[in-house]
Amino acid sequence: MFKSWKIGRIAGIDVYLHSTFLLLLAFTALSGLAYRDPLLQLLNLGLPLMLFSIVVLHELGHALAARHYGVGTREITLYPIGGVARLQSTHFTPEEEMAVSAAGPAVNFALAGAAWGLAPILATTPLMAFLISQFLLYNLGLALFNLVPAFPMDGGRILRAFLSRRQGHVRATLTAASWGQRFAWVFGLVGLITASLNLVLLGLFVWLAAGAERSQVSRRWYF
Ligand SMILES: [Zn+2]
Repeated sequence: MFKSWKIGRIAGIDVYLHSTFLLLLAFTALSGLAYRDPLLQLLNLGLPLMLFSIVVLHELGHALAARHYGVGTREITLYPIGGVARLQSTHFTPEEEMAVSAAGPAVNFALAGAAWGLAPILATTPLMAFLISQFLLYNLGLALFNLVPAFPMDGGRILRAFLSRRQGHVRATLTAASWGQRFAWVFGLVGLITASLNLVLLGLFVWLAAGAERSQVSRRWYF
């Protein structure tokens, strides 16, 4: 029922857009009709596109770090709740898992730093200043959010890699997954309180994915 469409190929990796993502864009475009100003309508659609370009770069960070350790990426898919890089394997050493997990947020920190450094040169108009500040905030927000230790999100994978060195892979996975499910409840509750459907869906997805990892069914998902 829900298909994905290929929208491009970057560094030899196919990038797909999930059909539910188009619903999000359609909804955003419709909500933008409330604005009279064409510039505001354009920004209303352009800012989510900027955010999701940043998400693609985040996923590329994971994919290229995995490639460095000899692991390919099947594809990157964009969902309304974020991007997923599907790796061909996740048989990493704890050090490798730490590096591959940290690579996504590291890309965002680097982009935020670049925006910060280039702002005095590029922010020549109020519009450019606004766009650069949004770019910087999106990158910082994405990096910090993904570092929340909610396994299997990046921070949770870093936690597991850290614990693996002392507890071994299986016990570390169980500990990280139970933290993931606790955070999933927090996401879901905050999503309900703030009426954020995305956060509720993310909570549900993290809960299911942490449960799946716990039962060792799937270990191939990178946010
Ligand atoms: Zn990530």
